[in-house]
Amino acid sequence: MRKWIVAAAIVASTMSAYSYDINGTRWPSASTHIHTGMPGISPSGVSWSQALQSAMQEWNRNTLFTFDSIASYRDPCAGYRSSSSPNSDFPAGNGDGLNGVDFTSSVCGNNYGANVLAVTLVYTESNRLGSWDIEEADIVFNRNLVFDIYDGPIRGTTNATDFTRVALHELGHVIGLGHSNSPQAIMRPSIGSTFTLQADDIDGANRLYGGFTNCPVARLDFGSVSGQLQSGDCTVQTLMAGGTDTSLVDVYQLELQQTTQVSLSMTSPSLDSVLVLMNSKSQVIEIDDGGQGCNSSINRTLAAGTYAVLANTFVSPTKCLGKSGPYQLTASYQSSTLLTQGRKTSFLGGTTAAIFSGGVTINNGQSYRNAVTSTQKFDVVGRITIDPLHRNKPGFIVVAALLDDGNILVKHPLNGFVPLMSESASIPIATSKVLGSIETVDILSNAVAAQMGFSQITVGFLVGYGVNENPGELYFHEEPISLVVTP
Ligand SMILES: [Zn+2]
Repeated sequence: MRKWIVAAAIVASTMSAYSYDINGTRWPSASTHIHTGMPGISPSGVSWSQALQSAMQEWNRNTLFTFDSIASYRDPCAGYRSSSSPNSDFPAGNGDGLNGVDFTSSVCGNNYGANVLAVTLVYTESNRLGSWDIEEADIVFNRNLVFDIYDGPIRGTTNATDFTRVALHELGHVIGLGHSNSPQAIMRPSIGSTFTLQADDIDGANRLYGGFTNCPVARLDFGSVSGQLQSGDCTVQTLMAGGTDTSLVDVYQLELQQTTQVSLSMTSPSLDSVLVLMNSKSQVIEIDDGGQGCNSSINRTLAAGTYAVLANTFVSPTKCLGKSGPYQLTASYQSSTLLTQGRKTSFLGGTTAAIFSGGVTINNGQSYRNAVTSTQKFDVVGRITIDPLHRNKPGFIVVAALLDDGNILVKHPLNGFVPLMSESASIPIATSKVLGSIETVDILSNAVAAQMGFSQITVGFLVGYGVNENPGELYFHEEPISLVVTP
C-alpha cells in the first residue's frame, strides 16, 4: 500500500494544538540522499545550493538523522505531472525514486496555494510494523515569490523571504515531521523570526529516529531470561513513534563483538509470541510470529554490532491464549571462534587492556556454542589476553559459575566448583602463576550435565585475574560465558 503526503510552509498564521507532530512516517535508515545541485545565487551572493547544504548540516549536527549531499542536480518534478484537478494536494505520477530540490513555477504542474513558499512531496509505503516508510521526498520552492538569505526577523514576501529557514522547515518534512504548535519552532506552520532549529524541532526528529531507545531497554546476554508482557509495558507504537501497532513489547539489546550465528527463541504457556530482530537503526531484520504455534524463533548469522530483540505479541491474539503473560527468551549461538566478552569490570574500579573470551565446545574447539543437551560431552573454555602491564608478574586466576537459581559457585584448586560462602568471603584462587600473555582456562573438561545431576540448567561462567602486588583488585568480564543445557 502506498500513499502520498504533501507538506507546505505557509505565510498565513494558523496554529494547531500540539507541539512537534510525528506519526511514525520515517526513513527506515535514519538517513537519505539529497541532490543539492540546484542552480542560482541569492541576491546576497550565497548560492541556493550552499544554503540548502547548510540547512542539511544543521539537521545532521543536532539530530539522529543524517542528510547526505549528492552534488548533481535532480529535477524534483521528475516523474510527476499535473493531476486532473490541479488544485489538489498532490500531482500525478510516481516520481523517480530520487530526492531533488529546485525553484518551480508550479507544484510539478499543480498550483501553489495562496502564499505557499515551498512544498515537500513525500512518497511513502507501509511497513510490517504498521507505520510508514518514506521512499522519496522532493522539495519545490515557489519561483513566483521573492527569496534571499539572511538571519533575524522575517522581512515578508514583498521584501524577500529567507530561503534557509524555509529549507530547514521543508527538510523537517523530508525527515518525517509534521507541523508544531511551539511558537518558536522551525516546524510551526507559518514562517517566523526563528532561523535555527529549536529544541522542539530536535526533540521531534530524535523521537522519530530514537527507535528502540524510545522504550526501556534491557541487556540481552547469551543464555535465557524470563520476562512478562503486561499492561503498562511499552508498545510498538511508542517504539516506532507512530503507526497503528499498539501491541505490548519488551526491548532487549544484544551486543555482538564478532560475526555470530544467533538463535533466538521466545516460548510461553499463555502468550501469542512474536519475535522481532532489529539493527541499531531500528530497521527490522526479521519478524517471526511462530507460524501455527504459540512460540517463535529466529535463526540468523549476524555481523558484529548492536541489535534489538523485541519480545512482542499481537494486538489481538490470533492463535494462542493471550496478548499478555510470562515468556522465556533464550539466545543461543554458534561461532568458529571463542566469543569475545565485551564488557569488562573490576573489583576496585581499575581499568584493564585485557581481553576476555570464552565458549562451550563439543568438538575440542573446532567450533563454539552455548547450547548443549544433557547427555552431550562438552568443555567450557575461557581465554584471557593479559594486559601488557600485568604480564610476567606473579598473579592468580579465579573462576565463578552463576547458576540460574541465583547460587554462585567458585572453582577451588583441588575440589572443583564449591559454593561461595558469603558475599564477603574472598574468592578462592583457581590457579596461582606468573601471568603469561595469553592464559587459557579450562573451566569444565569432558563434562556431561546428566552425570552432574542436571537435565536442564542455565549457567554463566566468569573468569578473572589479578596480580599479587595488588591483591584486592580483580579484573573480569561482565557478560558471562553462557551454558544452556536442555534435556
Ligand atoms: Zn510545513
